[in-house]
Amino acid sequence: MTVREPEFGDDDRAWMAALAYWRDTRCPLCGGDIRDCTGPEGEITVKVPPPRRCRATDALLDERQRYKDSPKPGALLFRTEVHRRRG
Ligand SMILES: [Zn+2]
Repeated sequence: MTVREPEFGDDDRAWMAALAYWRDTRCPLCGGDIRDCTGPEGEITVKVPPPRRCRATDALLDERQRYKDSPKPGALLFRTEVHRRRG
């Protein structure tokens, strides 16, 4: 007979439940708490700060463009590596 330790402890299960709750309360459109962004009009205000540019996506879009004429470009898997300059 093989006795195995439970794969997840009480703390692990509590963290997973908290993560599931957090995910369940996210708005699929804006990513915020759905109870906030769907609040009654007049009870919430929404501000949109100026956009920031994601340098990784910028580079990724350039790279995809470079491969656009290759066979089945939609099947290519790209990834980015972001390195912070030192000094
Ligand atoms: Zn939302």
